[in-house]
Amino acid sequence: MEEFNIKESWLVKIYQNIEKQNEIINHKDLKFFNLTILKDIARITQKNSYNCEICNANKDILMKMSIESAGKIDTIKGRNEITKDIDRITNHLRKSHKMYIKNYQLAVYTVVGLLIGFAVGFLVGWYFQTYKFFILTGASAGLIGGRIAGKIKEKKLAQKEQLYGGF
Ligand SMILES: [Zn+2]
Repeated sequence: MEEFNIKESWLVKIYQNIEKQNEIINHKDLKFFNLTILKDIARITQKNSYNCEICNANKDILMKMSIESAGKIDTIKGRNEITKDIDRITNHLRKSHKMYIKNYQLAVYTVVGLLIGFAVGFLVGWYFQTYKFFILTGASAGLIGGRIAGKIKEKKLAQKEQLYGGF
């Protein structure tokens, strides 16, 4: 129980840091560098840190980010570090804990749908030896189909509480 309280107070502390930091960093940068999801990934990381060594280690990275990002965002090197840290943590949450940033799967499905539609259109076009119409039709249908499938997937993830962030 005591350990539980220590971990919970970690979350309170990092929330305070992030709020203080968000007042300094301008809104455009917050969005561009995905820092708006910092609270969410802190919460999810903390939740998983009881059973996951990587999440436990990521807590240190997150705590540092909650203090240092405002300074780092002014330099190119610092900006790269912020991007790398966020990528590393969100990738881990996706691969190991099946937690997705909102609209991530929608984008994946849409691109895959577009590519499949393009390929099918190309093949049909090759068969009939007339490309433009079939490629355009295939790509449009693939794009729309991918988007619909992506929306369904997002809805399922939302129901299972596997989505976070998003704006
Ligand atoms: Zn983990």
